[in-house]
Amino acid sequence: MSDSYVIVGDGIAGASAAETLREEAPDAEITVLTDEGESLYNRILIKEYAKGKLPEAPISIHQEDWYDEHDVDLRLNTVVVDIDVENDAVHTHEGETFEYDSLLLAIGGTPQQLPVENADADGIHHFWTFQDARNIKESVEGAEKGVIVGAGLLGIDFAAICGAQDVEAKYLMRGDNWWRYALSEEGAEIMHEAMRERGVEPVFDSGVDRFEVDDDGHVEAAVDPNGERYECDFAGVAIGLNFNTELVEDTPLEIDDGIVVDEFMRTNVDNVYAAGDITSFNDLILGEQAKNGSWGSAKEQGTIAARNMVEYGSEAFEWVSSYSITHFDFPFLSFGHPTLGDDSVEATTAESEWRRVALKDGKVVGGVLIGDLSPQSAFKQLMREGRDVSDQKDRLMEPGFSVDDLAAPTEQ
Ligand SMILES: Cc1cc2nc3c(=O)[nH]c(=O)nc-3n(C[C@H](O)[C@H](O)[C@H](O)COP(=O)(O)OP(=O)(O)OC[C@H]3O[C@@H](n4cnc5c(N)ncnc54)[C@H](O)[C@@H]3O)c2cc1C
Repeated sequence: MSDSYVIVGDGIAGASAAETLREEAPDAEITVLTDEGESLYNRILIKEYAKGKLPEAPISIHQEDWYDEHDVDLRLNTVVVDIDVENDAVHTHEGETFEYDSLLLAIGGTPQQLPVENADADGIHHFWTFQDARNIKESVEGAEKGVIVGAGLLGIDFAAICGAQDVEAKYLMRGDNWWRYALSEEGAEIMHEAMRERGVEPVFDSGVDRFEVDDDGHVEAAVDPNGERYECDFAGVAIGLNFNTELVEDTPLEIDDGIVVDEFMRTNVDNVYAAGDITSFNDLILGEQAKNGSWGSAKEQGTIAARNMVEYGSEAFEWVSSYSITHFDFPFLSFGHPTLGDDSVEATTAESEWRRVALKDGKVVGGVLIGDLSPQSAFKQLMREGRDVSDQKDRLMEPGFSVDDLAAPTEQ
């Protein structure tokens, strides 16, 4: 009898697992269950759709006939509501049961709502799905003024969308700079200037205390904790994700800010695996459990999970992630874990070029590059090698830095 694999989630982690399983186990039964109404699309391109820069078609990655051609049973609009690990089965909202030999949970996260008055009013948007992007596009196209909350990588997508759609926006941030856990004021100022050029004004030491709505329940203003009122017909909220761990809360699966997996993507239950944003994984490079929310990492985790579902122990996940922003005239890239570490080094290397490298115990764990991405492979190599650079960290800031510029490591 052939093996049967059930995958929950048809994002990039679940879909790349399905693809790999089909390659590695040609006779297996593969079922993919997703609560979305469409099959795999490029989540990192939906912002370009909302900006009005891309039509719908190129955003799709797997058309529904891909699943037929690969003999994968795809179930759209199917919410998994219960997992029974004792009996190797999952149950859906319509009462269907799918039994498995091996299960993959690639269920990602859901955007958090602000815990303030009128947070769910009409005109207030969160951003995760293609359907969200359609709603955002429609809303910004009819808007003159916008408010954005959430000074991170998804918040800046809202800023770029407002800029591209000629919406005059206020970007309300806590603290005094964008993504303050990864960038200093100096680096962030390059980003602030790019926002201002697009009609998006960063407002510091701010946030949202409450939203005000008109008689139809549509958002008309955001009031910040200082009592300032910002009129808007559109608001974008990107304050983080709630990982979809609710589904496994009543199971023996270990949860710790995500589903805990080992380096082979296996949970503490032998035939249950997890991949993508939902995991808290054993990061072999960092040397501890970690989380990552990026496309490349989720894709790789899906592939690695599938290989280990076919043969446990066949390949470990070892990956330096990166996340780039392409909204402005200059490149921006973050890599690894830029918000972690116990030390950092940063420099402005030329006009509008800035870099920061985060270190932990003297080793590179992540960083941010603005304007000049040329040292990225050198920094990623140092990360993978786990090399102690504490006594020569200033060299990392030299223009044109390469790993050969460092003194040879001494024998321990
Ligand atoms: C607007 C936007 C821009 C981004 N830009 C970038 C970028 O530039 N670079 C980058 O690296 N990353 C980017 N990301 C992040 C990246 O897209 C994610 O890290 C990645 O897609 C995560 O993939 P995943 O498969 O783990 O999870 P997801 O893509 O979230 O997929 C999980 C799927 O599981 C489904 N699901 C959840 N629970 C259930 C259930 N109970 N039953 C059935 N189905 C369920 C969900 O609906 C979803 O379809 C961006 C994300 C967004 C939203």
